[in-house]
Parts: sequence; C-alpha cells; structure tokens
Amino acid sequence: MRNVIIIGSGCAGNTAAIYAGRANLQPLVVSGHEAGGQLSLTTLVENFPGFPEGINGPDLVENMKKQAQNFGAEYVDGVVLDADLSKRPFRLNIEGNWTETRTVIVASGASARWLGLESEQALIGHGVSSCATCDGFFYRDKKIMVVGGGDSAMEEANFLTRFGREVTLVHRRDEFRASKIMLDRARHNPKLKFLTNTVVEEVHDVAGKVVTGVRLRDLKTGKVWDQEVDGFFLAIGHIPNTKVFKGQIETDAEGYIVSKGGARTSVPGVFHAGDVEDRTYRQAITAAGAGCRAAMEAERFLEAEGH
Ligand code: NAP
Repeated sequence: MRNVIIIGSGCAGNTAAIYAGRANLQPLVVSGHEAGGQLSLTTLVENFPGFPEGINGPDLVENMKKQAQNFGAEYVDGVVLDADLSKRPFRLNIEGNWTETRTVIVASGASARWLGLESEQALIGHGVSSCATCDGFFYRDKKIMVVGGGDSAMEEANFLTRFGREVTLVHRRDEFRASKIMLDRARHNPKLKFLTNTVVEEVHDVAGKVVTGVRLRDLKTGKVWDQEVDGFFLAIGHIPNTKVFKGQIETDAEGYIVSKGGARTSVPGVFHAGDVEDRTYRQAITAAGAGCRAAMEAERFLEAEGH
C-alpha cells in the first residue's frame, strides 16, 4: 500500500515527488511514456528562475528527479495502463502490476500534437519546437514558420514576430478556428505572412541535424515547393494524457481535468498537477508550482484520514 503515487515525471510530477518525499510519504513516481515530460524535449531553458545562464531542459528535470530521490521518492519506468478510482484505496495497473494507494497525483501532462512526419520527429530540439515561449528567443533575425489555425497558432506567430526576421503561418484550410480578435491581430501584423490551404510535407535537413527549410504543398493547386526556414513551430493543439481515467475523473470535452479548487479533482484523494489541467500557462515553473500544491494537499488529505 502506497501513500501516494505520482503519475508523470515532468516538472509537476518531480516537484510533487520532492515535496511528498520530504514529507516522508515515500512517493512512487510512474515515469510515463515521455520520461522527464516536455522539458526533456527542449534544449536551453532560460526562464526557469534560479539559473542566470539558463539550464538544459533534460538536465533540469534530471536534477529534480535526483532531488526527489534524495528524499526517498522511488521511480518506476512505464505507464499506468488501467485505474480503479471507484473506491479507496485506489488501484493502479502499472505495467501489468496492480498497486494500491491512498492518494494519487495526476501529473501526466498534455502532449503537444505533432504532424507525425519522420523528418519533423528527428529534428525536435534542433529547430523543430512546439513551444514558442520556450524557444522563440533562439530565432532572432531568423526565418520562422508556425503551423496551425487556432488561437495558439495566432498567439505564437504574433509572439515570434518579436524575434524573427519574417514569420510564415501555414494552415491547412482557409478558415480558422482562431477567435476573430486573435486572427485580426495576426492579420494586421506586418511581419506575419499567411499561407493557407497549405501543408508541410517534409522538414529539411535531417542529415545535417538542423532545420534549414520545409517542403510545402498547396492543396488547391497541387504546387509543391521548398521554403527556407530556421525555426519550425507546431501549434496544432495539445492532447491531455487522461485517457486511462476516462469516466472516472471529471474532464472537459477535450480531456483536460476539471479542477475542483486547489489541486482537487472530482475524486477526493486524487489531485492534479501541471498541464493535465492547465491549458493556459503550460510553463515549467507553473507546473512545478502545481506539483508543490498537489503534494501539500495530498499530505493534508492523508493527515485528515489519520495516516
Ligand atoms: P485548436 O483550437 O484545436 O486548433 C488547432 C489547429 O491546428 C487547428 O487550426 C487545426 O486545423 C490545426 N491542426 C490540427 N491537427 C493538424 C494537423 N495534423 N496538420 C495541420 N494542422 C492541424 O488548438 P489551440 O490553438 O491549441 O487552442 C486550444 C484551446 O486553447 C482553444 O480553445 C483556444 O481558444 C484556447 N487558446 C486560447 C488562447 C487565448 O485566448 N489567448 C491562446 C491559445 C489557446 P483545422 O482547423 O483544419 O482542424
């Protein structure tokens, strides 16, 4: 029987593990399918307080993990395959082993949606990014491309015009999901060019391990061409990792956990931390803060139950 199982090993999960570990709860952390979370996919992180020269994303999460392990947190590779939250103790199927726990912290994050091209996947962290806030700064005076037609794409494309020499927004249709105000703002931005009815077929240059351009296709005319690009940003949505809790924890239509105040979910004893609930900020530092909050609430919950 565990006091707390933390699902996810990104900033939220690791910070929850540090706090729960220091509270002597001996947390078990299930690393998840993307160990280290989204930070493990980035390079230099310059906006996490405390690192004036910046710190590599993978180093930052690894340090957090070590810090948690120093306080007795235990890590297990793998994912939660199934869950029974209908009664306490809760039961989680971790890679085939059912484990009982008094509390659960869901810090399983939201994964950026990718186009799914092999070349795109190979160049993540080498010019391909899903986070303008994190990586925009590296493309000062460079050519930037953003893919997407929703509010995120408009927001990120606008933001990136602060850095890039030119920013091209590529969208597969000529209608946009983005709200009118965000779309108008983007349309009036003189540094932003729109390419609609257009898809990206390939990101160059995998052999050189750096983004140098893309191959595009106009869906109306069939025209195919190459365009030089230094920074390639995806803003085609995120997918919260809550499938395993479907029907057990209240989520919104897109699968994000609905907060019941603080770190509480609809199930007493199950807490949320990080991007699995947060569709707005999605930053390492906000996820870390949420992890702290979830661990403190889990601790209080256990105390109130007499454990
Ligand atoms: P979204 O609204 O779901 O838009 C995703 C966009 O990506 C759509 O334009 C979609 O194209 C495109 N897309 C999806 N899969 C694609 C693929 N495989 N290839 C090419 N394009 C693809 O997602 P979002 O922009 O991240 O926004 C999510 C939510 O957060 C929304 O409710 C939004 O309003 C909100 N949000 C608000 C703000 C703000 O108000 N400041 C900022 C960001 C986000 P199609 O349209 O053709 O499907």
